Amino acid sequence: MVKTNMSITINYCPICGYKEFTPFDSKGYPTYDICPCCSFEAGNEYDHRSSSDDFERLRNIWVQDMKAEWWKKPAPKNWDYKKQISEMNKK
Ligand SMILES: [Zn+2]
Repeated sequence: MVKTNMSITINYCPICGYKEFTPFDSKGYPTYDICPCCSFEAGNEYDHRSSSDDFERLRNIWVQDMKAEWWKKPAPKNWDYKKQISEMNKK
């Protein structure tokens, strides 16, 4: 079995950093869940073989082309995408 380069147990979206999201299951495979924040689907737009460059590329699409908008509107109160991303990068 191939080990992923993502930490297997991340419990946030690797694209936007949304915390109530599990992109990979306990074996490290994509859950095929769609992030309610950025709308990217684990296993479709990215998977356990994706590199941090891949995540960054998708993040740039979300921020620049999609204006970093909350997909399942309305966005939570006082939500700030920059803060959400910066909290993800602290890990
Ligand atoms: Zn997301």
